[in-house]
Amino acid sequence: MSIERTLSIIKPDAVSAGKAGAILQHFEDKGLRVVASRKMTLSRSQALAFYAVHKERPFYESLVEFMTEGPVFVSVLEADSAVSYHREVMGATNPSDASDGTVRALYGSSIERNACHGSDSLENAQIEIGFFFSGAELLA
Ligand code: GDP
Repeated sequence: MSIERTLSIIKPDAVSAGKAGAILQHFEDKGLRVVASRKMTLSRSQALAFYAVHKERPFYESLVEFMTEGPVFVSVLEADSAVSYHREVMGATNPSDASDGTVRALYGSSIERNACHGSDSLENAQIEIGFFFSGAELLA
């Protein structure tokens, strides 16, 4: 195992439900250290760019609409094998398939409104962290 960093987003459904604090606490309780975190509202162009990998998927426009409907918390989390471990703590994409006790099982309500995002590879984690945070913010 080696220490990694991953990009986590608490999505607008969870933030508007007042669950951002509980979810960040959940990550910390599971041993994911918060290196940096910011509350922000994604612009349409930011959401289009962040999810460009999905631009051919039928849900792309709906996902962009959802991700821009209100504030999110973007965070950099650190742990041993943080990329895969954070995805394990989040649970499956569809909350109805997510294991009991995972963030998506606890706070998600549909395959789209699933409370959180986590990078899916170390390479993408580095790209996604650089999308939101500068080097000076990542020294903690
Ligand atoms: P993730 O890595 O588990 O977040 O899943 P994906 O990379 O496959 O999808 C990105 C995001 O798009 C998911 O977290 C959901 O918010 C949304 N999404 C994925 N699949 C679907 C779908 O079939 N329908 C809709 N409406 N949204 C989806």
